[in-house]
Amino acid sequence: MTGAALRLVDSEPQPRALAELVRPVFCVDVYLPPRDNAYLYGQHCAVDGCDRPGNDLIVDSRRLCQRHSYRFKRATVTIDAFLADPPAIAPRGPLTGLPRYDLTAVDQTTRTELRFLLQAMHDGHFALTFNSKRWNALRQVYADGAAASLVDVDLATLSPGRVATGSAKRFQRFLRDTYDALAGVVVSRHDDVWPRSLYECFAKPMQQRPPATMDFTRIAAPWLRAAAKEIAWHRMGVEGISPTSAWDMVKEVIRLERFSSTPLRAPSDITRGLLLDWLAHNRTAAAPHTLSQSLSRLRLFLEHARVNGVAIPADATYLPGELAVRAALDRPPKYFDDRELAQLDNPDNQAALDPWNRRAYQVLRHTGMRTRSLVHIPFDCVTVKAGAPYLRFFNTKRRGGPKEHTIPVSPELADVIAEQQDWVRSFWPVEQPTWLFPARNANPKGQRPAHGNSIYNALVKWVRSCGLEAGDGQELHFWPHRLRHTLGTEMLNSGVPQNVVQDYFGHASPEMTAHYAKLLDQTLRREFDAFRQRVNRHGDVLDVMPSGVSPDAVALKERIGRAKQTLPNGYCGIPIQSKCPHPNACLSCDAFQTGEPFRPILAEQRARAQEHADAAATAGMDRLVEINLADVAALDRILDRLDDLAARPPIDDAFDVRELGAA
Ligand SMILES: [Zn+2]
Repeated sequence: MTGAALRLVDSEPQPRALAELVRPVFCVDVYLPPRDNAYLYGQHCAVDGCDRPGNDLIVDSRRLCQRHSYRFKRATVTIDAFLADPPAIAPRGPLTGLPRYDLTAVDQTTRTELRFLLQAMHDGHFALTFNSKRWNALRQVYADGAAASLVDVDLATLSPGRVATGSAKRFQRFLRDTYDALAGVVVSRHDDVWPRSLYECFAKPMQQRPPATMDFTRIAAPWLRAAAKEIAWHRMGVEGISPTSAWDMVKEVIRLERFSSTPLRAPSDITRGLLLDWLAHNRTAAAPHTLSQSLSRLRLFLEHARVNGVAIPADATYLPGELAVRAALDRPPKYFDDRELAQLDNPDNQAALDPWNRRAYQVLRHTGMRTRSLVHIPFDCVTVKAGAPYLRFFNTKRRGGPKEHTIPVSPELADVIAEQQDWVRSFWPVEQPTWLFPARNANPKGQRPAHGNSIYNALVKWVRSCGLEAGDGQELHFWPHRLRHTLGTEMLNSGVPQNVVQDYFGHASPEMTAHYAKLLDQTLRREFDAFRQRVNRHGDVLDVMPSGVSPDAVALKERIGRAKQTLPNGYCGIPIQSKCPHPNACLSCDAFQTGEPFRPILAEQRARAQEHADAAATAGMDRLVEINLADVAALDRILDRLDDLAARPPIDDAFDVRELGAA
């Protein structure tokens, strides 16, 4: 596709009209940005009293200017020590190291465009921090393109590095839109190339950013192109699908047309034979799940077209069995087993993650939320009520748009979140933070959330670099959603009722509203605490129950049955596949777990063990004394820890968690 194909209308650059949009302050030869402008000056150096742009080096959450980063790299101290006692730097000229923007150009059109673009950047039209270097790369694009207007430069022929550094692509698109607007061009859904501004209104908040353009010229057959435009528009407007989904559907049409060995001149050229060839072609090339999605999109398109009166043969469709090609059995189980989890949670492996992604992992691990929800956690997300922390976030996977959701979390996770909040505050000291996990690049004011994929990729890369192994000894396949399945499995295995688990995960349904009161009541808190507060024979609190689930679905079923068969004084944590090596000796077994509900039995057991020990001592049976005293000691540890847990502030029964939403 050439640059010209993207042009909506051939409206010529109108430098004079553009010049009228430029404010006088930008009509200069060299522009020196004010120091508080996040886009043209940037966040300041972290060294106290240094207000140079801190864009040379970033250490964790601290930014350093060029001169301080030079000193820091030579100092063999931590960043905190460096900042506590920064070296004095001799003052140079007042402008040394500060960004300056050269606006001189021989051609009047170039000069006007440069001024206009700089003004747009200054006003925050692009989520980028600019500096002299990037600016000069843009100027060089003009020079290399040998055109007065950026609109006339064919970017495909220039050095991609320079085009990217100078952000020339997005400036070109922006200038085109501006020129079109100045020429009075109104974009319409009847155009063949749709700019984002046309369909942006169909995008829901907290979803993927819609594609920059939808270029229907990629479909050659006129009737097919017209149908694609009509159906994409209809589905966004009436069905409420996102622009991304609409474009995904159109892309399938584009792919099918390219695949067809003969041109699709008329609707009757789409035959069942063609569709079956397409299925066979993709069966080897695409993963089963992807293929099933692609074919469904295509089938929906064909159905819509027929309803719209396009004469595509009635048998040109896929049957349900042909769509259900997903090979669920080929995929590894979705949850992680104990051994896999132990590797993931292993402190040495955790240390290999950078702190930012480690905190992201911990939130995912302990809440099981989706990555898209993770990046849309509001900055002020933790509320403490009656001594217990709650996390407020948005359930983003809902047809009607994102919905606020509040779940109980452990104090340990609340600490991780506090650490992340400190990081964000220190990275954008002046701005009011919006998100808990903002994008770390191209985000001058911190208002843009991180992209879920960047966390996804970082975690997948981390698991690979650590060489973690799956249960079968093969490389561990990690994707963050498996943590969600894992937590759900763990909770169910620990006896948390299914409806509570559903509520915890915010699984939406039409009846959701009616259940809302129940969803967030104290039951959820109590169940969660019981889940969290099991104690082993050492008196250690088991934060998360081991699951011990085999990939085999039959074993899973039995395991759940077994989990409910509790011991008189607690639970047995041994997986169903294993035999118990110490019958009737749970207090000396590491798999033994117990909790508050068993306190009376544990107390009675302790009294009995003490009696036995005393009796054995009187009888001079040393071995028996030893055994019973070990049990007494274990029970003391357990009871002490249960006392600690009970000493946590009680849940106020009158307190309604629904209040939290407003906090
Ligand atoms: Zn500095």
